[in-house]
Amino acid sequence: MGNQYCDLGLAGLGTMGRNLALNIGDHGFSVAVYNRTGEKTREFIDREVEDRDIRGCFSLAEFVGHLKRPRTFIITVPAGPPVDAVIEEIIPLLSPGDLLIDGGNSFFKDTDRRGRDLAEKGLLYLGLGVSGGEEGARYGPSLMPGGPKEAYERVEPILTAIAARVKGEPCVAYLGEGAAGHYVKMVHNGIEYAVMELLAEAYDLLRRGLGLSPGDIAGIFEAWNRGEAASFLVEITGPILRRLDEKTGKPLIDLILDQARQKGTGKWTSREAMDLQVPTPSIDAAVALRDLSGFKTEREAASRVLKGPSPVFQGDRKFFAEQLGRGLHAAMVLAFAQGLALLRRASQVYDYRLDLAAVAGIWRGGCIIRAAFLEDIRQAYRAHPKLRHLLLGPHLGRGVIEQVPDLRAVVKAAADLGIPAPGLMASLAYYDAFRSARLPANLIQAQRDYFGAHGYERVDAPGAFHTGWKKE
Ligand code: NDP
Repeated sequence: MGNQYCDLGLAGLGTMGRNLALNIGDHGFSVAVYNRTGEKTREFIDREVEDRDIRGCFSLAEFVGHLKRPRTFIITVPAGPPVDAVIEEIIPLLSPGDLLIDGGNSFFKDTDRRGRDLAEKGLLYLGLGVSGGEEGARYGPSLMPGGPKEAYERVEPILTAIAARVKGEPCVAYLGEGAAGHYVKMVHNGIEYAVMELLAEAYDLLRRGLGLSPGDIAGIFEAWNRGEAASFLVEITGPILRRLDEKTGKPLIDLILDQARQKGTGKWTSREAMDLQVPTPSIDAAVALRDLSGFKTEREAASRVLKGPSPVFQGDRKFFAEQLGRGLHAAMVLAFAQGLALLRRASQVYDYRLDLAAVAGIWRGGCIIRAAFLEDIRQAYRAHPKLRHLLLGPHLGRGVIEQVPDLRAVVKAAADLGIPAPGLMASLAYYDAFRSARLPANLIQAQRDYFGAHGYERVDAPGAFHTGWKKE
């Protein structure tokens, strides 16, 4: 063992905590670990730690006593009351200047509250978004830290060492004050929901529409992953579709119940987007479809009585699959554009001062939404840091705007086949609405004025107007 005191304390040895501790240990830092259930700590130390400087602690006092001052802790427990429980327990043992880092998926308003409460006690608090699942935590996650700058600077060497790297650049950067890190992580998850929905719709069009086998569809996803849609979620879909069930020998995908679960981070993003009045229809559609998937009994009953067109595609199948790949790429970039527009507004409202080029840079590696086109997005914001919207930037993935006609063709085909594609449709509608200098909101204003005397503005004169609509 090295020094008497450890560089960092880690509380919560679940999936995330164990893997992060090993990752930190691999980079030469010493870690004291603590878990509510001591048995898990014992098992971890005995089975996984090997020669890393990771020390098991079996009481909070022992844990806190193991750390260099000022102390730094990372908490990796489920979001919500468990985070508050750990903080409450540990606070009496801390000294001013100690730093607590919440490495879970906490709701950003909780992070704000905790940061304020701890600041009053002279303690530092950092909300750290971590993405990349188990593998990311172990070998290089994408890290989204927010909070006091001095807190970030204290742990920068550790975070930089353990983060994923893309062409030598670590996927971590200081994002801003308060809950900036957890906010960016929330939007990351919202985009993740949207992309997963888009991929599921593409799979459905190929499976039900074209009648392809999971193995054939895997080949198509693998081809897409060699092109401009190259991304982690496209990449993992190939092997998922190729996997055979050990018991039956059938494609495992056909045996998995079609009811998607969620922990709520997609919903948080949609709700927050509505609060800030920033449209994120592709994310909203993804949340709605996960919810609709839960109505399995009703869907089965409806499938017997509600009629629709035959879902069997009749045209040029090879051409359609290619068109789908291009349309999918456009829809994915449009989903990112919505998430980034939300971040831009949030940055103004909450004063995060986000650097969207840095956000895109962090997302290029380690995380679930990593995608090759994030480099183009990063360049767009680098060239124009005040860019009002990704769709207005000259760097937006060369092909995207040219690929919208493919997305349109795919959406038409989905409507003709009666195969639900709300994510693809919402992405297209977002594009069409965004490029409409004139929307039918004039009629909505007239209706509001008709029934509620809410007034309206005119295109040809300043001021507020009202019409007595019911008069002849
Ligand atoms: P797990 O469920 O695997 O682990 C939870 C850990 O928290 C356990 O060690 C448990 O201790 C401890 N714990 C639970 N409740 C309390 C409590 N009230 N007081 C003290 N300790 C408690 O969770 P994960 O590691 O998967 O996730 C942790 C956080 O990280 C979550 O916010 C999650 O969303 C986020 N995250 C997870 C990722 C993943 O891939 N799993 C990736 C990115 C983020 P005990 O053994 O005593 O039950």
